[in-house]
Amino acid sequence: MDVVTAQEMYEWDQVAMESTGLDGKLLMENAGRAVSSELEKKLDKHQRVMMLIGAGNNGGDGFVIARTLLNRGYSVEAWQVVPDSKVKGDARHHKEIFMKTGYTLYKLEENDDLRESFESAEVIIDAMLGIGVKGHLRGPIKQVVELANEQKAFRIAVDLPTGVPADEGIVEFDAFKADYTYIIAALKVSALVEHTRLYYGEWKVCDIGLPVRKLPSPNRKVWQREDSKRILPKRDANSHKGSHGKALIVGGAAHMPGSIAMSAKAALRSGAGLVTVATPKSAVPTIATYVQEATFLPLAEEEGVIKGPVDFDVSAYDGVAVGMGMGRGRESNNLVNHLVSSVKSPLLIDADALYQLKNILGLLRSRTYPTILTPHPGEFAHLVDQPISAIVQSPFSYSREFSKKYGVYTVLKGPATIITAPNGSQFVDLTGNAGLAKGGSGDVLSGILLAMMLQSGSTTHALNSGCMLHGLTAEMLIEDDHSMVDLLATDLIEGLTQTFRTFSS
Ligand code: ADP
Ligand code: ADP
Ligand code: MG
Repeated sequence: MDVVTAQEMYEWDQVAMESTGLDGKLLMENAGRAVSSELEKKLDKHQRVMMLIGAGNNGGDGFVIARTLLNRGYSVEAWQVVPDSKVKGDARHHKEIFMKTGYTLYKLEENDDLRESFESAEVIIDAMLGIGVKGHLRGPIKQVVELANEQKAFRIAVDLPTGVPADEGIVEFDAFKADYTYIIAALKVSALVEHTRLYYGEWKVCDIGLPVRKLPSPNRKVWQREDSKRILPKRDANSHKGSHGKALIVGGAAHMPGSIAMSAKAALRSGAGLVTVATPKSAVPTIATYVQEATFLPLAEEEGVIKGPVDFDVSAYDGVAVGMGMGRGRESNNLVNHLVSSVKSPLLIDADALYQLKNILGLLRSRTYPTILTPHPGEFAHLVDQPISAIVQSPFSYSREFSKKYGVYTVLKGPATIITAPNGSQFVDLTGNAGLAKGGSGDVLSGILLAMMLQSGSTTHALNSGCMLHGLTAEMLIEDDHSMVDLLATDLIEGLTQTFRTFSS
């Protein structure tokens, strides 16, 4: 499923029209029909529906939807909320069809009070403004949106809720607050970004018949379950532990042995053949009790954190992860430097190692094997010297720019996790839930990702599938909003067993 900006959406429409001769009026009819078919599954014919229609393409879709639903016997009251003179182009064409079909169009005059109609409506459908919105809402639309948001009625938006920008990075806006949005042709970036996604409510993308093979790729996609099903690792009957990769996990400290222990256990659960844990000597017994399957590389320490020579041999490993529960002492700086320079296999950098990395970002370009950074927004903000708010407002652009600049894979974690390859192509993982908002779930993710990389020929596939396994496990373990409260990171590790089973059926 592609994810587009407003500009990319306009380009798609243009390409569709120029390369195949499909015209805008037909695409508008298709869009309206597609949304109407979905609405029919949601609405009862006796429900009082109030349809709010604007002047641009979004309004045009609205005229088609109103006509289609009225044709099919639904009780729709269609309101044009902008002056006649503003209705132009394809929208005007569909308005004329609506009028000629003989249906009533209510128009909002200067001092009209919509309050009464609103109060009797059970469903409000917003087809006022779509991707063409510029700046704050103005004129009658502003008042209509304010009033609509106060109603008890179920609110549905067409394409995107009026007022919500299609792109990331805009935080000052007022908008229709939808319970459900029928998105037209392609998911818009703002449906996935923290401050805008809540306006969409639940959503579904409606196909309108664009010529998919002709459309330029935005290089931004939602990773789907079927994609993982195709590529999850399988075990060859003749394989042995060495066939599934030797992993090294570096980090831990005496006062926080849990993080690295969970990463190691999660890596084993996710199929890594052998896992070695490099950690301060005094932390080894605690970690070994929890992960009996691992072997250890005990490191010199001072007061429980890594201290002393850190240039141990890493040539035997097929993949390395560093940072979980490591602390931010001076020596860990040398350690990260050593690993970045000498690991000749995929290297995953998480948590405290990301803080150390900041001083040596320039070294990343010289790596010849994949480097994967797995920051949450706070860690990423630190790396790129920006406030956290800037990162959560524009996660797609910041992570794309960073990955391209340093030649790394960036897994920017959050409710929508964005996975960016060094060439800038992006995947979004939408699995998981707020049960994961608890210490340790990122450590589990690092272990899963490392194991996936050992078993896959493609780093991108490994990362996408790893994020998905993690998120699906959280979904599987949670039955309702209350059970989100008690989810533990260690439950995820145990739960992986069941998630893997669902992929083999
Ligand atoms: P388009 O027709 O460009 O695909 P829309 O259906 O979203 O996109 O409609 C754009 C229309 O909305 C234009 O007619 C424009 O004048 C109007 N418009 C844009 N921004 C605002 C705003 N903030 N408040 C009110 N009207 C707006
Ligand atoms: P820690 O370092 O404590 O283990 P991180 O912040 O590094 O935790 O990672 C948290 C993990 O939980 C990430 O994979 C993130 O995507 C996921 N997560 C956190 N909050 C949410 C949420 N509200 N919805 C979905 N996933 C979430
Ligand atoms: Mg973390």
